Amino acid sequence: MKIPLEIKAYCKYCNSYTMHKVKQQSKGKPRTLAKGNRKHNEKLKGHGGKRAGKVPVKKQGKRVVAVLTCEQCKKKQQKTIGSRTRKRLEVKK
Ligand SMILES: [Zn+2]
Repeated sequence: MKIPLEIKAYCKYCNSYTMHKVKQQSKGKPRTLAKGNRKHNEKLKGHGGKRAGKVPVKKQGKRVVAVLTCEQCKKKQQKTIGSRTRKRLEVKK
């Protein structure tokens, strides 16, 4: 999905439509010690019963989230661009 480098969007702090710089949101790291992950790893240990592994999933695409930075007040906001897509966000001039 392509999007221009600067777009006009609403800024709630300026209370008006201003130019925003577009940047792709960086992916966060998965928490390895989260409760669900610990439980899953515990289930994978040992034998007996079915082993829970990766279930093949039909990929549906994700909603692309971009970070918009207001050029007047420098505040940031998140915005989903379009609906679900399998393509990555491309910021173009
Ligand atoms: Zn603003």
